[in-house]
Amino acid sequence: MKSEGVATSAVLFIISLNASDEPRGRQPSYGVRCPPLCYLTFKNTGWDRSASLEMTVKKIYTLADLKNWRKKTPIRLGVFGDPVEHSLSSQIQNAALEACKIQMEYARFQITANELEETMQLMRTLDFVGVNLTAPHKIAAFAFADEIEENAKRIGAINTIKIEKAKLRGYNTDGRGFARAIRQEFAVDLRDLRMMILGAGGAARAIAFQCAKENCERLVIANRTVEKGQQLAEELRDYFAGPRVLGPVARLQAIPWEESSIRFQIAHLDLIVNATPLGLNRSDPSPIPGRLLAPHLMIYDTVYGGSRTGFVSAAVEAGARAANGLAMLVHQGALAFEIWFEREAPIGVMRAAL
Ligand code: NAP
Repeated sequence: MKSEGVATSAVLFIISLNASDEPRGRQPSYGVRCPPLCYLTFKNTGWDRSASLEMTVKKIYTLADLKNWRKKTPIRLGVFGDPVEHSLSSQIQNAALEACKIQMEYARFQITANELEETMQLMRTLDFVGVNLTAPHKIAAFAFADEIEENAKRIGAINTIKIEKAKLRGYNTDGRGFARAIRQEFAVDLRDLRMMILGAGGAARAIAFQCAKENCERLVIANRTVEKGQQLAEELRDYFAGPRVLGPVARLQAIPWEESSIRFQIAHLDLIVNATPLGLNRSDPSPIPGRLLAPHLMIYDTVYGGSRTGFVSAAVEAGARAANGLAMLVHQGALAFEIWFEREAPIGVMRAAL
């Protein structure tokens, strides 16, 4: 009886941590979506309960935790990022694991750029099934994987790793996740769109290569560091060599992140995608000021959160259609789940978990 009492108070502590972490309007229904609660109170799982408790009490793990990792923890999957607290990947993946009756958990890991190499080495020795990578690790992690699938090789960035026999195999599900999200949100295919991507990092590269593969009408890349945008456009050039009648603008172009350059493009675009972290902080400005946006545009912000991002608000005010990155999160996560477990992901459950 006594030990049950201890477990119960620990569970309440976990619940209060989770609750304060959720964006407003996305509070979990307590006791339903809290795997630690299930493991500690209802299941006789066979692993060391006190070890499990210690591991699951922490809401964000670090490299130091991985160095002292206990083999018996149910945490066998996770996401590495900096920052990572905003990530809702654990919410959708834990819902999928539970729905498929897979007795594993997915957790968030705060890993800095300097810690990535050591962390990747360590992953070879731990009993993990796989991990996801978020900003700023997608490009850097590419160099530390043992094998990379073809699609991710072209992109030069990975967002998913499958770990088998101490080998790290890298994949990228962002591009396909993005294409599915655009179809879901706006009922259009990439091939029919004139697009501008803001950013040239890991997510932007995956999106740009997907647009190229699907032969989109036109692609403009605007990046803060203009040379990186130019480099990406250069890598995409062959995909855009085919003829398309488009009038006075180039089919593929890298432009500076400047108001005058962006203003010129607006009339020649259908969809603008934010693939920078701008919007992760509530105080971030919209990546493009509202005065430049127009009602004919579709706006897709890969950033997501509990409330509207500045970009989505600016778009709605300008009369444009807009969506945040939740649909992309679900689709890229479902594709990652399918890589890890070689079975269909319960996408409805993952969507409902948000
Ligand atoms: P990354 O590789 O670190 O690249 C970041 C990009 O954003 C770079 O092009 C960088 O420009 C630009 N940037 C950073 N800070 C900026 C600022 N203050 N102003 C203007 N540009 C800025 O990151 P990533 O992996 O591509 O991820 C970017 C974001 O995409 C993430 O934060 C995440 O929110 C979002 N994302 C969402 C999903 C989803 O499923 N919804 C999936 C993937 C990514 P420079 O080249 O000049 O440094």
